[in-house]
Amino acid sequence: MEQAQRHATAFLSPANADILGLLQHFWWEQGDSWQEQWEKLYNYYSDNELALFFLCTIVIPALSFWMYNAVLIVIHLTGKPHFFTEYKIQKNHPADLAKLGRALITVVCNQIFISIPMIMLMYPIMKYFGNPCSIKLHTYYLVLLDLIICVLIEETFFYYSHWLLHHHKIYKYIHKKHHDWTAPIGIVGFYSHPLDHILSNMLPAIIGPMLMGSHVTSIMLWFSIVVIGTTITHSGYHLPFLPSPQFHDFHHLKSNQCYGIVGILDRLNGTDLLFRQNKAYDRHILLFGLTPLNKSLPPPPQKKKSTDTQTPYVWENYHRFINK
Ligand SMILES: [Zn+2]
Ligand SMILES: [Zn+2]
Repeated sequence: MEQAQRHATAFLSPANADILGLLQHFWWEQGDSWQEQWEKLYNYYSDNELALFFLCTIVIPALSFWMYNAVLIVIHLTGKPHFFTEYKIQKNHPADLAKLGRALITVVCNQIFISIPMIMLMYPIMKYFGNPCSIKLHTYYLVLLDLIICVLIEETFFYYSHWLLHHHKIYKYIHKKHHDWTAPIGIVGFYSHPLDHILSNMLPAIIGPMLMGSHVTSIMLWFSIVVIGTTITHSGYHLPFLPSPQFHDFHHLKSNQCYGIVGILDRLNGTDLLFRQNKAYDRHILLFGLTPLNKSLPPPPQKKKSTDTQTPYVWENYHRFINK
């Protein structure tokens, strides 16, 4: 597989440099228009900056999350449209309504009782050190810098908090709940114990913009990327033109591998060794065409007993869930 296609290094690839150039061009073309729209919204909320902060950092990312997940839940329950099933990573168990209901309740509770208070707490802190709701938008380069730092901070905090939650002495009390789903669906990204939600979902995402003193529109963009990102990585579908979910899907399959998000710290700490020996690694690419990976990179033929002494558990699970 060509290195440039590999998700972990794709960030630095020429293809991505083109995308960044395209974004920069788009930003400059639209720059005045963005500023104009923002000023209209800013003036509309001029008496209530807190409401503006709430709209940008909670309402819009939450809408992004629930609109995408509503589609995924319908597909999960009905198996339609049928062509989606071609892109499925694991062969799911039939939809379990009770399990789905429990997940929905947990996710809504986590969002209402943990996410909203934590994000609203950001406002007075950020206001004390700066002005997140200034009328002047930040420049393209500053937004890009914010996003890069936020990704690196999230990768670091998520990796180590997640790794800690997998410690055998605490795993069953907190993080096991998230792993109830060995073949996850989109909303499972936020299906977790409250402490897990604070440590692994919220803190890694909010520390970055607070340290950077980001503009509220940059926070809106970052939070939307985070919630869409966690939905994609838990969706169970490897769809064209979207980031590969194979890395975290493999984590749900074999829970002592792939603790991070981007994969940098897993590579440095060697916690992706089994993943890199597995066929899922070859499939961990950005899919540029419409041909599903199940056709272009089909799983290996099923073996009755694994001959790979290093990864028996991986292969057993792999065949159980992925092979057709
Ligand atoms: Zn997960
Ligand atoms: Zn985990």
